[in-house]
Formats: sequence, structure tokens, C-alpha cells
Amino acid sequence: MGFIDTVRDVLAASNASPARGGAGDESAGAYWCHDCDERIRDVDAPGDGTPDCPACGDAMEFERSAASTGCAC
Ligand SMILES: [Zn+2]
Repeated sequence: MGFIDTVRDVLAASNASPARGGAGDESAGAYWCHDCDERIRDVDAPGDGTPDCPACGDAMEFERSAASTGCAC
């Protein structure tokens, strides 16, 4: 009984804690132009969808950051 309450408190506390992996950084990855080595984080990209490379104008390629692949296996 006491144990269950403790587990529930721990779970509630972990759910309530701020986002893991750095406060304020919700970037899931970045857009790249490999030709120009231009990089724009998804959170910095203007508008929705894939931005164009500011240097050459080609569509950029989205690359997930290694820290956010979300695989827990
Ligand atoms: Zn480019």
C-alpha cells in the first residue's frame, strides 16, 4: 500500500518534470543542403515544410538528430 503510493508519486514526479534532453530545445532534427553545407534546425526553419537552401535554392534534406530518434530498445 505504501509502496504503491510511492511508485505513483515517483511516476507523477517524472511526468511533471520538464522536458528531457535540454530545456527549451525541442528540435527533432535539422534541414541540410549537403552541396553547400547549409544547416537550418527545424525549429529555426521559416514556415511549415521543407525550406529551400538559402545559398543555392534547392530543397533541403531533413535529418533527425541522433539524440531524438526515440528508440528505447
Ligand atoms: Zn544549397
